[in-house]
Amino acid sequence: MDHLLALKCTICGAEYAVDEVDYVCPRHGADGILDVVYDYDLIGRRITPDDLARDPDRSIWRYLPLLPVEPDVARQLAADTVLATVGWTPLYPAPRLAADLGLRHLWVKDDSRQPTASFKDRASAVAVVKARERGYAVVTTASTGNAAAALAGLCAAVGQKDVIFVPRSAPQAKIAQLLAYGATVLLVDGTYDDAFDLCLQAAPEFGWYNRNTAYNPYMSEGKKTAAYEICEQLGWQAPDVICVPVGDGCIIGGIHKGLRDLLALGWIDHLPRLIGVQAAGSSPLVDAWERGLEGWEMSPVEAHSIADSIVAGLPRDRIKALRAVRETGGVYLRVTDEEILAAIPALAQGVGVFAEPAAAAAYAGLVRAVAQGIVQPEERVVVLATGSGLKDVASAMKAVGEAHLVAPDLADVRRVLAAGG
Ligand SMILES: *Cc1c(COP(=O)(O)O)cnc(C)c1O
Ligand SMILES: [Zn+2]
Repeated sequence: MDHLLALKCTICGAEYAVDEVDYVCPRHGADGILDVVYDYDLIGRRITPDDLARDPDRSIWRYLPLLPVEPDVARQLAADTVLATVGWTPLYPAPRLAADLGLRHLWVKDDSRQPTASFKDRASAVAVVKARERGYAVVTTASTGNAAAALAGLCAAVGQKDVIFVPRSAPQAKIAQLLAYGATVLLVDGTYDDAFDLCLQAAPEFGWYNRNTAYNPYMSEGKKTAAYEICEQLGWQAPDVICVPVGDGCIIGGIHKGLRDLLALGWIDHLPRLIGVQAAGSSPLVDAWERGLEGWEMSPVEAHSIADSIVAGLPRDRIKALRAVRETGGVYLRVTDEEILAAIPALAQGVGVFAEPAAAAAYAGLVRAVAQGIVQPEERVVVLATGSGLKDVASAMKAVGEAHLVAPDLADVRRVLAAGG
């Protein structure tokens, strides 16, 4: 891994050798999230857009020279397993949605198509490879549900043991996935933030590899692959705006990192503005952005929303998340649960993507951004659909009308159709 120069603290800027620390800056503890620093000259000699154009690999592993893993371990684990199907999700043009909003160029990146049906597979894939590289018997994570399902699914794919901490309130579908994949599931009688802290204590105590978002510096590196894909799928013409749903802030931080990598390599010529979308009941990053606070000045708040995947009272990747929006000239905005629910059928009918509430929030955010003049009609916009609607059917049912009950005869079908059904 000679392409990794250092791990750099996002608070004090101290740099560590890659084998010197496992997770966070020793001076700053769990807040001291590390950035992975790359040797772009070396990487630029190893891989080019032309090489990629010829590469038949349709997964995140096409970007191996840009990822912080041992290539041989990744290739070996991915060979003929579910791990080989993570990434390279479709980027759909959405002309009807665009027309509704008065935009000319809109795409939806459909990460509900990942193997465990959420964006989190991008990070968990990297975690599974890191755990194998380092010879850990068990991997652990705390999660609102999707990161856990992703870890459990990919661990099952390669025969790795895992222990999962999720809040008791996680949607049934996500818990069902965990149990079906054979994870040891600990339902924490508390919030996601409680589950996170418990997992942080348990990992060193029992000698487990810790995948926790933001604590593990390599998770944003998996998530950054979505930015590579968006730019490659658009012929290396970076969009003007990317709308990202934000809970802990690891996705938006990862997207920012991916874009910065591409800019440093000279493969794109500008950074898109990142629009971070939070649920109104869980919007500490919007508050911090509005008040000009730094990540380390934030304190925990009570957080609630129907969009469970973006509920975080103290976003763990807050430093990278604020930086992502500030350094790209973007904005943070809030959307209500009503706007999020309305966005579920809008996305489903407008482009054919059935999204869970957190994913629909990104589209709800775009609707707001257009209404507030933050996005202009001619701008090229990408919305990240981060998770499948099948993850939370109960919420989807709140967003849609009733089906029509008919007797098993044609006359009744005619009656319903005549009534406008
Ligand atoms: C985790 C998640 C998010 C938010 O990602 P963060 O890194 O926590 O900001 C958004 N949507 C879905 C579906 C998720 O699972
Ligand atoms: Zn530090």
